[in-house]
Parts: sequence; structure tokens; C-alpha cells
Amino acid sequence: MLRWLFPITCELCGEEAERSLCPDCLASLQRIPRPICLYCGSPVYGTAPQADCCPACQGQPRPFDFARAPLQNSEQNMELIYRLKYRHAPYLAAALAPAMAETWEQTAEAKDFSEAVIVPVPITPERQVKRGYNQAALLARALGKLLRRRVMNALIRHTTAQDSQTRLTAARRRKNATQSFSALPAFLSGRRKLPSHIILVDDVFTTGSTARACSKALKSIPGIEHVAVLTLVHVCND
Ligand SMILES: [Zn+2]
Ligand SMILES: [Zn+2]
Repeated sequence: MLRWLFPITCELCGEEAERSLCPDCLASLQRIPRPICLYCGSPVYGTAPQADCCPACQGQPRPFDFARAPLQNSEQNMELIYRLKYRHAPYLAAALAPAMAETWEQTAEAKDFSEAVIVPVPITPERQVKRGYNQAALLARALGKLLRRRVMNALIRHTTAQDSQTRLTAARRRKNATQSFSALPAFLSGRRKLPSHIILVDDVFTTGSTARACSKALKSIPGIEHVAVLTLVHVCND
């Protein structure tokens, strides 16, 4: 009845559709070109990549097992992310998540994560109040349904540690605020049985610093040993 009164239309072409992106428009979104760095998922350009690893990842510490994303940061893809995050279009998470599920199912390394649970990258409580939702949590929920996985929202938290110098101006304090991720104390005792493998979900992978920080926080929890990162977009600089 509701569908008849208010039919869902595709965000891009305006045609009536099952989700807010029709299959044709979802398929037309610009994908990450192959080959990719088997660690961070970035496209590897030129010939003979060194051991399937991009220059940025060579010799770097590897707090997560691997990262993958279906989409590149084209103008259209970033516009969809912008609407999802800032234009009150939370319904786009369910429309875009099938692209992430497809990439996950095509990832050979994912076979070790058959028992993994999905954990979204948390946002700060202030941002949660302002936006009303966490876009990563919406993607995680949609992905949980598609991959038939459990989603755990509250393993790690995102905090903003304010500079203690109270005489600084508000703008200066904001600039000095450091963002950090930490495990919820309730899980650090190791008394709760947790899966050893986690799929960390976020909307965009840019430098990987968020994924690295979250992975370290997750691995500080007894029992968690492996973290795979799955985002919707991977920002490619070349
Ligand atoms: Zn369409
Ligand atoms: Zn890489």
C-alpha cells in the first residue's frame, strides 16, 4: 500500500525501483580498476607490481589483514556518499551495500572470515547527535543482511580528546582535538567470548589511518586476531 502511494525511485535516473538505486545505475557506478594492491585495495598502475603491493604499503606496518572497496572516488560516487552523509539520505546505505557484498564475495582472502562479525567504524557521540545516524552503521546493517552476518555496533568507540588548556579559543581547541578509537572497557577483560575475525565497515577509505586506528583498538580486545576492512569507496590519488 505504502509502496503504491509512495513508490521508491532511483536516486540517479528517477525510474521506479526496488531500492533507491536501480540495478542499471548501481552497475554503472565507477569500479576500482584492476590490478589492485592486495593489502590496501588501491589500484596498482604500470607493469610488474612488486609482490602485488602498492608503493604506499611497502614496508609499512599492517594492523589489518587487508582492505577492499568496490567503488573509486569518481565525482558521481562521492556525490552519493555526500548525500548519504550530509543530505539526510540514509536509505542510500541499503541501495549501495550490494556493491560491497559483491566485492566481499569476490575476494579470495575473505574465505578465512567465514565466521567473522561485522563492526562499523564508530562516529563521535557529538556527530551522532548532529547527524542522527552513523552512515557506517547503516552500511554495516545492510551488509549484515546481505552476507547473513551478525553486526556488533559497540565494540569500539570514537572519542575526541580535548586539549586540556582551557584558555584556548574554541576554534583553537577544535584544531587541537585529537580523534581516537578505543575498545569499550567491558570487552577488555576477555570474559566475553568474541569471534577472532572482524569485518570492519566504513564508507570511505582515504589514507587508511582510520582503518589502522580501529584495527589496533579491535585487536586490543582479547580474542580478536584478524580484521578485514570493507569500505564503499577507496580514494585513489592517481
Ligand atoms: Zn537508475
Ligand atoms: Zn596498498
